[in-house]
Amino acid sequence: MHDATRTVHHPAVDEEGYASLTVPTHRASTIVYPDAASFFARRHRGFDGYTYGLHGTPTTRTLEAQLTALHGGVRTVLVPSGQAAVAIVMLSVLLPGDKVLIPDHVYPPVRSFCEEHLAPRGIAYGVYDPLIGADIAGLIDDAVKLVWVESPGSGTMEVQDVPAIVRAAKARGVLVGCDNTWATPLIFKPLAHGADFACEALTKYVGGHSDLLLGSITVADLGLRQMLKETLRGLGVGVSPDECQLALRGIETMALRLAHIGRVSEDFARRIARSPAVERVLHPALPSCPGHEFWRRDMGRSSGVFSIVLKPAPHALLEAALSALAVFAIGASWGGTRSLIAPMAIADDRTVTPWTDDGMVLRISIGLEAEDDLWNDLDALLAALERPAAARVA
Ligand SMILES: *Cc1c(COP(=O)(O)O)cnc(C)c1O
Repeated sequence: MHDATRTVHHPAVDEEGYASLTVPTHRASTIVYPDAASFFARRHRGFDGYTYGLHGTPTTRTLEAQLTALHGGVRTVLVPSGQAAVAIVMLSVLLPGDKVLIPDHVYPPVRSFCEEHLAPRGIAYGVYDPLIGADIAGLIDDAVKLVWVESPGSGTMEVQDVPAIVRAAKARGVLVGCDNTWATPLIFKPLAHGADFACEALTKYVGGHSDLLLGSITVADLGLRQMLKETLRGLGVGVSPDECQLALRGIETMALRLAHIGRVSEDFARRIARSPAVERVLHPALPSCPGHEFWRRDMGRSSGVFSIVLKPAPHALLEAALSALAVFAIGASWGGTRSLIAPMAIADDRTVTPWTDDGMVLRISIGLEAEDDLWNDLDALLAALERPAAARVA
């Protein structure tokens, strides 16, 4: 054998005794076959076998299996982002002439996808009041093939009556997909409540460190997995094992991180509610949050994201108070170790449930910093916003 050949043939090494607690990162495009017959027969391997790196390696399969177990499903499909998870479900289920129903508080890029991508291709969408519950039955006509839920909702945090919506959809043979990113499977398991697709932005709490983008779709039906994988194959979409390796590392600490930040977020939400600068607090664990009763019935525990509606304040004052934050970072993609705050313009995203508050909505995501440092930062922000209100009264 010449050296040039040796440079591309890796010698086999003994793995006897190598027992590690970590998941190896298996990178591959090509999968090779032991003989010609197995190459000819490769199609029979299906999506549980290995045929091409795009469709999975042992690293991606490990993360899929772990999410499947947490959700109590039968298979999980990984995609490059949380947004991709939603889009791939819709592209897999919906054909021209069909219709999808989305809640008015949906993650805004999902509405944009329906409006800018699906609608021009003949797939209609309808927007419903997130608190509609069983009355969604009145919106389900023969064209509706998918009902989308997101509970609680992005930004405004309404908790949906998912079991009632699922019952109404099932009665008409309509599929239900759930964006479960806030809750993670540790707090809510959509498949156990009858949903067909449980989607997660793994970017958030599974990754946990603001350094990766991934999404997942877990199903309880092998036929749905087949449909999703065929869509991904057609689009040429797969995920990197390096991202999955980071997610596999992040998920190991997720239960502890969530237990901590859930407790801190509930505590802070109650304390913030006492501030005269605040109109109301939208935290699923507080009765002031629409759908709180469904949180109590179906979840009972919190993650770290909630919103506050401020009393109207001069924009310059708010901008100065936010810029003065020393511990919270200003940013949108939550779920990492750093606490975040993001001012949100809600009114523009509403079409069936108008948003009438004049005050700004701040979305807060609790991270892993010391509680006192975080509270001092928030306290200073609220105090800065209280001052002019007090002045106006005087
Ligand atoms: C962040 C988020 C997404 C999108 O996840 P990406 O990985 O950033 O695309 C979808 N839904 C919800 C509720 C989110 O918070």
